[in-house]
Amino acid sequence: MNRYLTKSRFKLATECPTKLFYTGKIQYPDTKLDDAFLTALADGGFQVGELAKQYFPQGHEITTLDYEEAISQTNKLLNQEEVVIFEPAIRFGNLFIRVDILVKNGNFLELIEVKAKSYSKHEDKNFLNKSGKLESSWKPYIFDVAFQKHVLQSAFPDAQISSYLMLVDKDSQCATSGLNQKFKLIKNENNRREVVTDELSERDLKAKILKQVNVDHAVNLAYENELKTGYPANSFKENIIEFANYYQQDEKIAPVIGAKCKKCEFKTNNENESQKSGFKECWKQQLNWQEKDFSDPTVLDIANFKSADKCIQNGKIKLKDIEKEDINYKESGESALSQKERQWLQIEKVQNQDQNIFFDSDGLKKEMEKWTYPLHFIDFETSAVAIPFYQGMHPYEGIAFQFSHHILHENGKVEHAGQFLCTEQGEFPNFNFVRELKAQLEQDNGTIFRYSNHENTYLNMVLQQLKCSNETDSAELCEFIKSITKSTAKSNEHWIGKRCMVDQLELVKKYHYDPVTNGSNSLKAVLPAILNSSNYLKEKYSKPIYGTEEIHSHNFVKKTWIQFDDAGKVNDPYKTLPKLFDDITDHDVELLSETDELNNGGLALTAYAKMQFTEMSDYERNQLQKALLMYCELDTFAMVMLQEAWQVMLKQK
Ligand code: SF4
Repeated sequence: MNRYLTKSRFKLATECPTKLFYTGKIQYPDTKLDDAFLTALADGGFQVGELAKQYFPQGHEITTLDYEEAISQTNKLLNQEEVVIFEPAIRFGNLFIRVDILVKNGNFLELIEVKAKSYSKHEDKNFLNKSGKLESSWKPYIFDVAFQKHVLQSAFPDAQISSYLMLVDKDSQCATSGLNQKFKLIKNENNRREVVTDELSERDLKAKILKQVNVDHAVNLAYENELKTGYPANSFKENIIEFANYYQQDEKIAPVIGAKCKKCEFKTNNENESQKSGFKECWKQQLNWQEKDFSDPTVLDIANFKSADKCIQNGKIKLKDIEKEDINYKESGESALSQKERQWLQIEKVQNQDQNIFFDSDGLKKEMEKWTYPLHFIDFETSAVAIPFYQGMHPYEGIAFQFSHHILHENGKVEHAGQFLCTEQGEFPNFNFVRELKAQLEQDNGTIFRYSNHENTYLNMVLQQLKCSNETDSAELCEFIKSITKSTAKSNEHWIGKRCMVDQLELVKKYHYDPVTNGSNSLKAVLPAILNSSNYLKEKYSKPIYGTEEIHSHNFVKKTWIQFDDAGKVNDPYKTLPKLFDDITDHDVELLSETDELNNGGLALTAYAKMQFTEMSDYERNQLQKALLMYCELDTFAMVMLQEAWQVMLKQK
């Protein structure tokens, strides 16, 4: 079988050439989603490719997956003087590409790569930074086109080729309502994903929300200046040849480990007799490590650490070898922990084998003195779809489709105070979302908590949407939003609301560090840690009191949240919830549930996309809604439990 270097393999190699050896081999599991259907939903870009094709009504699509058949059909079509082909197959030696859209006009070829990435003419210009070099965030996209152009030019040396990215135009506005509902995702009889498109009207296509941008200059810059160091060869085009040869011969390119290894997809926990970790293989090869070395925390484990590459190059890899100067440690002089102080605390605890929790009771107490009871805990689930719901909306405008709300009263009473969920197909939920949030929060003047900046960002965005709307209560809703938020850095107007939400994540970072979280501040890491360390929580929630008169719940009845495993550790409460999707693998659940400070988790937004853009029975929809409500309720209940544990810890000091 031919082992071709394709677009996706070339992309992998530009991230790290060693990955080419591991990719596609069952003995090296990776952390990509198992299910292509869920991947398409989670990624959300599947509609963009279909819309792009609608701009070329005369296009011919090559659908076969068979390499030889696809090449033969492509060549037949290319015999025409003028033709537009979707997914044509082009081969040159051991290089093989399927171009998204190829336009042939005599000797002129237009190569168009469609990406569901937003682009603004004013902000992104020619994909260059101030020094005239390729902007790093655009490099993967430009490299992709540069690779394809090289293959196409090699296959058709006499053709004149122009290359383009077709991107989602952030500055455009949708001409009609309901456009995104015209693209539905289905599983075909071969269990493969397929997009079904309703007929688009002339008006649907009138204001184009995808923009075709010429990238020839950027591609030339890539050829001249990129992929020069850290790769087997010293230039972009030579590296294409090298990657292809190594891949064809199934030979590994020697690993060069670095900070990039932290997010490597071959860093998995799924090892067994027949499956190996590509990550460990690289680290053993370069560092001569033995299996036992992997139990020592490394610089990759330090939260928000920018100097990992420097430390690795200097041979300072394990935390036990790190000194203050390696992390540019500086004392902040403030009472709360700074980022550097927290990083050093993490390292020091490893070096001293100290498993004790750091808890700055004085600092947290001072914060608590500013709070007003009852305390409110809120969490939003959101999505941003490329193709807007309504006429006049911009691509990727955020959708706030769900929230949960818990209250903790001064006397210790906990209640699930309310929730909101709107998953109706084609319905824009944001304004009703804010109306309901306002109704629930304006019952008193208690302090409101969020976990991360996400809620503030989204409310700022809805504020802008309201300002452009004709909603009769727009002024009231805007005033409410401003009262509980602060302005974002991009805002022209500056404010800090009287009842501005308090970020519980910031409180964790400043005042609480549990070594078992290994530096992760995500609530999914902090929750199990606090459940295992707090005897108060263990005692209280190992009884079926949640969803009773004692603790009101909208979605649970007599729920016992805390259950112990055989070793006496608390089981992860999220694992007791029903699965959101039928036949989803545990591996995919874990991936979609991953959260860090930037990623709010893909599970809920994938479920939302499924309800918007696939056909499902009422029963299935109902079950999915019930599960979504449970997940979100646990998100805010987790915040309550953290607060309860802190209150008890303060009393014990
Ligand atoms: S572990 Fe590091 S060196 Fe190895 S394949 Fe992954 S990123 Fe490359």
